Amino acid sequence: MNIGLIDVDGHSGFPNLALMRLSAWHKNRGDVVEWWNGFCHYDRVYMSKVFTFTPDVDTVIDADEIIRGGTGYKNYGSLPDKIERASPDYSIYPGVDYAIGFLTRGCIRRCPWCIVPQKEGQIRPAATWEEIKRPDSDRIIALADRILEKWRGYTDESAFVYAYTDGEPHNTITPIARKRGENFELDLVLRNNITTPEHPLGVYHPHAKLHHIKKENIGLIEVMGLAVLPARLKEEMAQLKEAILTGARLREDEVLAKHADWVDEFRPKYDQIDSSNIDGIIENEIGLVFMEVLEDAGVYKRTAEGQAAFDRFIGCI
Ligand code: SF4
Repeated sequence: MNIGLIDVDGHSGFPNLALMRLSAWHKNRGDVVEWWNGFCHYDRVYMSKVFTFTPDVDTVIDADEIIRGGTGYKNYGSLPDKIERASPDYSIYPGVDYAIGFLTRGCIRRCPWCIVPQKEGQIRPAATWEEIKRPDSDRIIALADRILEKWRGYTDESAFVYAYTDGEPHNTITPIARKRGENFELDLVLRNNITTPEHPLGVYHPHAKLHHIKKENIGLIEVMGLAVLPARLKEEMAQLKEAILTGARLREDEVLAKHADWVDEFRPKYDQIDSSNIDGIIENEIGLVFMEVLEDAGVYKRTAEGQAAFDRFIGCI
């Protein structure tokens, strides 16, 4: 089919989501879709009008079928479900470099001039941001680059984030890119390598108390939730379990002494430690240490203050 589209409101800065979905749906069927140009004959023309005050198109439209829709025509229906679920065709609005869609439908208010409460009813979830994000990769790279540039120069003294000290840069980003279905997804990990006399390896690095388990820097895999532990732990933990079960003095053992404070800390939590539960206890306690490792490595902590500081950074992007 040969499809013509008319955005009656006239590209007024608002991309017409219904037309974008219709375009995508028809293109997926193999139809030819273009903006109606007044010279061609079309099998079908879609006219969409959002605002009642927008004048209608008064030119003769050469088409076998003309479908008008939108609140501007006092048409309060919705697109068929199969079209409503189509990802928008962003190519018809090349100037639009952001994603659009409805995270919610409906509204909690009833402004007298507005049709939304009547048309859509009470507010309700409509989609997640994952469903709305755009599938094109170029754009996501450009956005990531913008965040990296902002972060490199970003200082927030109250959050102990310094872009530079003595001319040395501290801020960088670890990016993690992947493709889920048709969409590219990019996780950006904000890093800062500033050191202090108290934390000579880095303020946002596993702190000294945890080095008996993990001293190395945190990498991509760990940020994504998979703990990578040093190989030495395999042998050390085997020795440690044996020492705990036999009541050996950990502080007198050259290899195990570094784990002694940790064992003293977790031992009171358990009524009994014996051969039946020691594997689970050690595994669990290593997991808890690793959680602290991640907390140390995070520039913004999972606290109200950390969230507020993170929001300040996001606000300046
Ligand atoms: S009723 Fe309409 S104008 Fe009023 S807040 Fe809701 S969507 Fe906006």
